[in-house]
Amino acid sequence: NDSWLLEVRIMAYGDSQRLLVARDVTRLRQLEQMRRDFVANVSHELKTPLTVLQGYVEMMQMTCDPESMQGRQFKAMEEQSVRMKTLIDRLLTLSRIESSTDLDLERPVDIPALMSTIQQEGETLAAGSHQLVFEVDPELKVYGDEMQLHSACANLVQNAIRYTPPGGEIRVSWRRNGERARFEVQDQGEGIAPEHLPRLTERFYRVDKARSRDTGGSGLGLAIVKHALNHHNSQLEISSVVGQGSRFAFELPATLVVQKAS
Ligand code: ADP
Repeated sequence: NDSWLLEVRIMAYGDSQRLLVARDVTRLRQLEQMRRDFVANVSHELKTPLTVLQGYVEMMQMTCDPESMQGRQFKAMEEQSVRMKTLIDRLLTLSRIESSTDLDLERPVDIPALMSTIQQEGETLAAGSHQLVFEVDPELKVYGDEMQLHSACANLVQNAIRYTPPGGEIRVSWRRNGERARFEVQDQGEGIAPEHLPRLTERFYRVDKARSRDTGGSGLGLAIVKHALNHHNSQLEISSVVGQGSRFAFELPATLVVQKAS
């Protein structure tokens, strides 16, 4: 249609003056939308043939000894197709979250229930190799999108497990901080060097590609977290010490926290 979009900024100019800068971003937004639609469509189209291939690989696995050369090759094919499916699912999640607009603020999200699901998923991923310690305010409720909050918290917990050597401890908490609510994940992993921190939430940015691939990474997790948090007027805080561990945290504004009746 004929409508166009202007980005307007008001900046301080000297002590008492203000500078108003307006930029036509119509074309930029259209291109962003085209890219998002393209990624969503391609991902969706790739799913069907992949499911067919997975079915055939499963059938072929049933016809041979898993220890034989052929059995091992089928196993490798199965693993690669699972990785591809994870990547496609994550691309779809990212484009869904990127293009979602208004939050449904009608029904509050029950944080203890959400975190109990995430804890179970975490225990399955860790398979007894890490100690997971969850401390969640039992009465905390927030306004927001349940799917997006689940994606944000689950991705951070899963990363903490995947980048912490076996035997390490992961501490996860959701607390009230005044009228705001704060989520934190502290791990005892390898840590992240400061030069990587500013780029960590970019799509496909990985500190160590091989390591990320080995642990089942796609390079999309933190991009998903960033977009989900943007929708909730929140930002990811990352602090890390190489060799000691990392802390990923975010706070939800008071307007999104169901306040206790006084
Ligand atoms: P991936 O699927 O590769 O984990 P993410 O977007 O979730 O992608 O994370 C981007 C990169 O940030 C990872 O490849 C890894 O290098 C680094 N990273 C994320 N979480 C942690 C963590 N808890 N400890 C150390 N490095 C991390």
